[in-house]
Amino acid sequence: MRAGASRMARPKTSRIRKNDMVMVITGREKGKTGKVLRVLRETNRVVIERLHMVKRHQKPRGQQAPGGIVEKEASVDLSNVMIMCDRCNAPARIGSRRLEDGSGVRVCRRCGEAIDK
Ligand SMILES: [Zn+2]
Repeated sequence: MRAGASRMARPKTSRIRKNDMVMVITGREKGKTGKVLRVLRETNRVVIERLHMVKRHQKPRGQQAPGGIVEKEASVDLSNVMIMCDRCNAPARIGSRRLEDGSGVRVCRRCGEAIDK
């Protein structure tokens, strides 16, 4: 891969992280909230606990994995979710604020509350 191409392909840094509470804002699970289990940076997708469940037909793989139909979380595009603000109890746009020690925290743009506790 050319250097330029790899730079283009680099995923943009997401404001959403593992264990964040997010709301799905579009699609079949619209309006539902859940905890982020995984962030898939390569594809800009997230897996949310108990949302977008899909049935997978699993082949039997011996005694421990008898196979059958298992339900599993499917990933959702990052652009389809918004982070939840505890204080607003609503999905929020996220800004950032620099602390005196130079570190940054994510804050709710509506109420200014820090998302990172
Ligand atoms: Zn807020």
